Amino acid sequence: MDGRLLTTGEPHLEAGESAPLVRYFDIRWDSVLDGPGVRCVVHLQGCHLACPWCHSPHGQPHDSPPLVLPFEGPNPPFLGRSESPAALFRRLSPQLELLRRIGGLTLSGGEPLDQVEASEALLRLCRVRQHHTTIETSADSSWDTIERLAPWVDVWLVGLRVVPTTVREERVPEPSTVRRNIGGLVRSGANVVVRIPLIPGYTDNPTSLELARRILDDEGVTRVELLPFNSAIGVYYRAMARPEPHFAPWDELSSLERAHRILKTSARAVTYATVHPH
Ligand code: SF4
Repeated sequence: MDGRLLTTGEPHLEAGESAPLVRYFDIRWDSVLDGPGVRCVVHLQGCHLACPWCHSPHGQPHDSPPLVLPFEGPNPPFLGRSESPAALFRRLSPQLELLRRIGGLTLSGGEPLDQVEASEALLRLCRVRQHHTTIETSADSSWDTIERLAPWVDVWLVGLRVVPTTVREERVPEPSTVRRNIGGLVRSGANVVVRIPLIPGYTDNPTSLELARRILDDEGVTRVELLPFNSAIGVYYRAMARPEPHFAPWDELSSLERAHRILKTSARAVTYATVHPH
């Protein structure tokens, strides 16, 4: 579809027709886990990383892969949609109006920063209509990308996953890049919440948490959310006929307590989120 041929009669929507198509694999209409209040969440397709703990392996490829085996969960994703930012905004608008005073739009992934032009167009449309906006991101990107989106984002939910070098694989977020971007956002006055998933064997150990604490201290982060590990991670892997990742047993209570003790300071709130890493 060539969105540029569409006319809407609204100049800001017409601007959104000419941006690159938004590729996405799911929409959650009323999430309470993805930003302040109630969120309409668009899961953008594609992520340049391949974290072993990823809950959305079907969101990693540039194009949605087919689920080759039956999906076992209650909410099967629809796969492989793309449309202009303006067309998607029109689809979302009735819900965003309902959420106007209690929430807004969240761009999640995959990785929204990997579709910077389409993300920007969608966020700008929200700004024109004064809808609250949030981005969930790994922040594993250039500063130019962050800076380009920053004017249109009300809340940044940034994942921080410091993995010991002994188990670090090539395609996990680079801590120095994420750190630079978190610091830049904080210094620019952005509303930043750092989310730390507790993943056994990767981030859920004292060394990783101490390194994370140092980053949070140095970059002046005042709000942290701990994300519990979800051991039922396999559903999309099975549906894609991909090997299912396996992790060591996880003791939720002691893990959350340890992370809280290491990361909490008098200047920093550390809370628990009942959301799992995307
Ligand atoms: S967990 Fe997030 S950053 Fe990692 S591969 Fe999945 S979508 Fe990408």
